[in-house]
Amino acid sequence: MLNRKHAGNLLTGLTIFVILIAIGNFLRPDSQAIDQVIDQATQHRFRQVALASVNAERKAQGIEKEVVADSGLQDWLNEQPQSLISNAAGISLDILLEKLPSKKLTLSHASLFCISAKSPDSLAGRLDFWKDAFKTSTNVVAMRLYRSSKSKIGCLLIAAKKVPKFNLTLFNNGHSEFYVTCRNCNKSHIGKLDKCGLAIAMKCSHCNRSYDLIAADMLGNYHRANHYLHGYRPPPEIASGATTRIEELTALWAAVVARCRYSKDLAGLAGKKDSWQAPSDTYSFRNGDCEDTSLLLADWLISRGFNTRVVIGHAPGKGEHAWCVTELEGRQYLLETTLEKIPDRPPETQLEASRYHPRFSFDRQNIYFVNGATRNVSDYFSPDLWEAFSYPGSAITRVPSVALHPLQTSKLQTHP
Ligand SMILES: [Zn+2]
Repeated sequence: MLNRKHAGNLLTGLTIFVILIAIGNFLRPDSQAIDQVIDQATQHRFRQVALASVNAERKAQGIEKEVVADSGLQDWLNEQPQSLISNAAGISLDILLEKLPSKKLTLSHASLFCISAKSPDSLAGRLDFWKDAFKTSTNVVAMRLYRSSKSKIGCLLIAAKKVPKFNLTLFNNGHSEFYVTCRNCNKSHIGKLDKCGLAIAMKCSHCNRSYDLIAADMLGNYHRANHYLHGYRPPPEIASGATTRIEELTALWAAVVARCRYSKDLAGLAGKKDSWQAPSDTYSFRNGDCEDTSLLLADWLISRGFNTRVVIGHAPGKGEHAWCVTELEGRQYLLETTLEKIPDRPPETQLEASRYHPRFSFDRQNIYFVNGATRNVSDYFSPDLWEAFSYPGSAITRVPSVALHPLQTSKLQTHP
């Protein structure tokens, strides 16, 4: 039984919250005064004082996580033209935030504050006005001083929440909040994703289409579904007597079915976990559940040059299920690996269309998602029906292969 969890509902749409707060008695900028650029040393010193004050205040409020100066955000703010910064008290605050490359910086929200005072020291004393800097969710800031008039200094502060881009290494190391960009519509999401021991299909809440499929191995680490096909080859003697390709296909299918006993691990029985096995492990262990044996068969067939995919979907009576499909000489065959005994020849997919409802499939290079209805699918290879997403990289070094050794027994010492 294959268990799967959708991440779609875990991911919420990204919102850039725009908060514009202008505090202080702003005057129309004095054109001579604003040309006086505040030197970098003063800027740097102010940033250090301000950051220390903000973090001290956060700590006093019981917020353990410190905000840090984000170099990307700071560089961006430093690059903005002096005229725009100096006029920040006016309408250009909106313009400034609109220019913020949130996607590049992976910010989930950003707020812009603007205060002014007579000197950098008195500015630092007004930091309590930067409310968003004291929000628990804020983790990065950037700031820039400017001269707002002859007698006043202004400061722009961006307080933002930065989230890492989704990647499996971070996810496997315990990160759960990510910035994800949909590979269909290019819209961004931010949300939490928890390691649940089940395969996870990522679905976009904007376009409602899937674009990624990851699954946990026996150690609980996640990998892309297609990376489980790590290039495992069948022993040369298997199907060596076949004289046609269909005979070779059938012999490889028969070898997997004969070798591997169908089993579910105990956690899988409770429906809580479903780890995927590397094909070489399934071969060594001589057992596995539907996706384990499908992975083994697909990897073998691909190694022998068959155009084969592992398919994940629903099979009435079996629930969530996995099987293989192969395209050969203009026909498509469906290979069920949990049978006790296989027929002489694999059935063509159209004969099984009412019993197998695919949702995702993959080969070594791509993960494919069905466009539209999943019922009565008999064409598993049409690019019109299946949207392909390339996830390059082999799992040869990524999916751990767990070697089990027999127990060592010591020989009894006998004494004459
Ligand atoms: Zn989308």
